[in-house]
Amino acid sequence: MLNKKHIKYFNKILPKDFVFSEPGDCWAYGYDNSKMHVMPECVLFANHKSQIKNIVKYCFENNIPITTRGRGTGNTGGSVPIENSIVLSLEKMNKIIKIDTSNRLSIVEPGVINTVLQENLKKQNFFWGPDPSSQDYSTIGGNIANNSAGPRAIKYGTPRDNILGLEFISGKGEIHKTGVKTSKGVVGLDLTRLFTGSEGVLGILTEATLKILPLNNSVKTIEITFERVENASETIISLMTQPITPYKLEFVDNESIKLINTIKKNHYEENCNSAILLEIDGEEEYIDTMLENIIKVIKKNKYKEITVANCNLDIENLWSARKSLSPALREIGGYKINEDIVVPISNLTILLKNLNKISEKYSIKIVNFGHAGNGNIHVNLLFKSDKEKKSDNSKKCLKEIFDLVLSLDGTLSGEHGIGIIKKEFINKEIDKGTLSLMNDIKKQFDPKNILNPNKSI
Ligand SMILES: Cc1cc2nc3c(=O)[nH]c(=O)nc-3n(C[C@H](O)[C@H](O)[C@H](O)COP(=O)(O)OP(=O)(O)OC[C@H]3O[C@@H](n4cnc5c(N)ncnc54)[C@H](O)[C@@H]3O)c2cc1C
Repeated sequence: MLNKKHIKYFNKILPKDFVFSEPGDCWAYGYDNSKMHVMPECVLFANHKSQIKNIVKYCFENNIPITTRGRGTGNTGGSVPIENSIVLSLEKMNKIIKIDTSNRLSIVEPGVINTVLQENLKKQNFFWGPDPSSQDYSTIGGNIANNSAGPRAIKYGTPRDNILGLEFISGKGEIHKTGVKTSKGVVGLDLTRLFTGSEGVLGILTEATLKILPLNNSVKTIEITFERVENASETIISLMTQPITPYKLEFVDNESIKLINTIKKNHYEENCNSAILLEIDGEEEYIDTMLENIIKVIKKNKYKEITVANCNLDIENLWSARKSLSPALREIGGYKINEDIVVPISNLTILLKNLNKISEKYSIKIVNFGHAGNGNIHVNLLFKSDKEKKSDNSKKCLKEIFDLVLSLDGTLSGEHGIGIIKKEFINKEIDKGTLSLMNDIKKQFDPKNILNPNKSI
């Protein structure tokens, strides 16, 4: 329990209304999209790094755990506080400090919402690569901590590929700077990449220098349907083997198609058992030739229909089918396990075939869809009740899925991270010695283990 002395101190060093200690105020800061909830002892806000420095120094001296929070959209409990912890919300630290198009960089504070940054960049015909579907709500700090990305990661990468440098405060309350403001640089160890995706366990991000890119002025959207799931995965492989890198390449399986058809009345035709939504981007004068070449590649595979969007309404219609999946899953009920595994795309066919077999073996409905161009598939296990979800049958099924993914040279999480809820599985993928090396590294950044303790590694 935090005592009154601590709350008094925080009230002294922070501006008015930057400290919440009433349970009614704190409640909303105790959960994220994992649906876990733990009540924070108090919630602090900061809008300047000097405030964060003072908070961390005090917490270091008094052994108070800190859970850093962006906007709480994470899926694995990363911003859910552990017992007796304070939450540090960076939502008020939301300035875009600089947009420098000639050097292709933008400097931002961590609380900037992804879409707000993209809108500002768009005015200058630029963008930042990472586009998680939560971009209207999630922060750049959260995106960097979770290495979050969306459909265009296939061409434009994840935060790890799109950051030049960072500034962060360690668990001792010291400010550190990593990286460069140039497009090349090889001085010192690459702490920028180490920090990115570290889920808030190494430090509190206070500033990021992002690599930005000019927008292409033309995009083509194509939907391809298939009778068999393996025809879709084979088409994905041939699309990734030719020179035009797709801008977005999304996949839905037969169970997803059934679900979409219930919401978007018969969007997909009869006997359609999987589909791909593909986009390419480029300069207007070349885009039609690119489209012709892409269609030639698709036609070398077995397919049912190819639909090219001719106008914005067509594009919206094709995307709204793909986007209706998450709400459809939510409507079915809350009893689901949502994994986000990744395999090399050459193993997609074998992954999907075996997921079907596992689904039959355990009598659990599995719905698969996702960012297929990265081999990143959202595997959704659906249950009729909470009891079924927590049963031994479901645990065995999940274990077999993870074993399958690892046997195919895959990884257990492409974008959600480990947080709290996946922690029990991390040693399936990372061996004991390497995990212990990672924990030794954390000790250098956070010697008293006050930053997001017991999460991720
Ligand atoms: C509808 C929906 C769609 C989603 N779609 C995607 C998607 O397409 N792709 C994807 O990758 N994810 C997706 N997510 C997951 C989530 O949005 C991302 O993980 C996002 O980056 C989290 O951002 P946030 O600001 O909400 O961070 P939070 O959830 O608040 O925090 C996430 C983690 O980052 C840490 N953190 C936050 N700020 C800092 C900081 N300044 N310094 C250090 N650590 C920090 C937290 O401690 C926590 O561990 C989705 C979530 C929802 C609800």
